[in-house]
Amino acid sequence: VPELPEVETTRLGLLPHIEQRVIKSVIIREARLRWPIAEELARSVRGQRIRAVKRRAKYLLLELDRGTLIWHLGMSGSLRVVPATLTPISHDHVDLVLDNDTCVRFNDPRRFGSLHLTEAEPETHPLLRRLAPEPLDASFDGAYLHRVTRKRQVAIKQLLMNSQVVVGVGNIYASEALFHSGIRPTRRAGTLSRERLDALSKAVKRVLGDAIRAGGTTLRDYVNPDGMPGYFRQKLYVYERAGEPCRVCKTAIKQLVQGQRSTYFCPKCQK
Ligand SMILES: [Zn+2]
Repeated sequence: VPELPEVETTRLGLLPHIEQRVIKSVIIREARLRWPIAEELARSVRGQRIRAVKRRAKYLLLELDRGTLIWHLGMSGSLRVVPATLTPISHDHVDLVLDNDTCVRFNDPRRFGSLHLTEAEPETHPLLRRLAPEPLDASFDGAYLHRVTRKRQVAIKQLLMNSQVVVGVGNIYASEALFHSGIRPTRRAGTLSRERLDALSKAVKRVLGDAIRAGGTTLRDYVNPDGMPGYFRQKLYVYERAGEPCRVCKTAIKQLVQGQRSTYFCPKCQK
């Protein structure tokens, strides 16, 4: 599943190839994604220039002359920039053909991705309207976490993965950030001090930032050329390391299940 760093890596990879390019045509080979692609989308975007490439949570936003394309990669989707004449392979559902005869090609075997065009402000679109803060924004900090965790009995890891609190912090990054801030994943959110939540918000930014940088260093002509998300290249401290020695204190990493998801932690480093 593409996580926030993979989507950001995709954005950074697309940017130099598509910004300020004009969309010559749109080829839709399969419109039945998570939601069907609107029939008029291809006609509406033809001839429009891509003014900017942004991201909100795990949505890529391509700002056009009139409106914004909202693209989600779903569970298995990927975007690549390829020559428009390259023969499509199976699951290549959509091409945005650009004015330099390259195209942005969307491949999505499981078809949980989506593509919408909105002519309104994208943040008012139903998909984006109710999203929580971005973890990499300045507004996500210890003060914010302190405010939203008071009187909350829920375990801190589950709170961190709640997209109504903060978007895009998946299991891997939540586990790693809790390790780096020395917080046990089962700790009740409401019992954590402001200082510890400062450390946690910084650790979240750091693990996501490291993953984005790890992904970014491998970009060439293609976006995600090997299809391998950034976290495979990152040194993990606890995630999927049950029984292995902690990289800091050598204690065996423990595993437990929280909200149907596996959690990993060092019983000595994390309190
Ligand atoms: Zn340890």
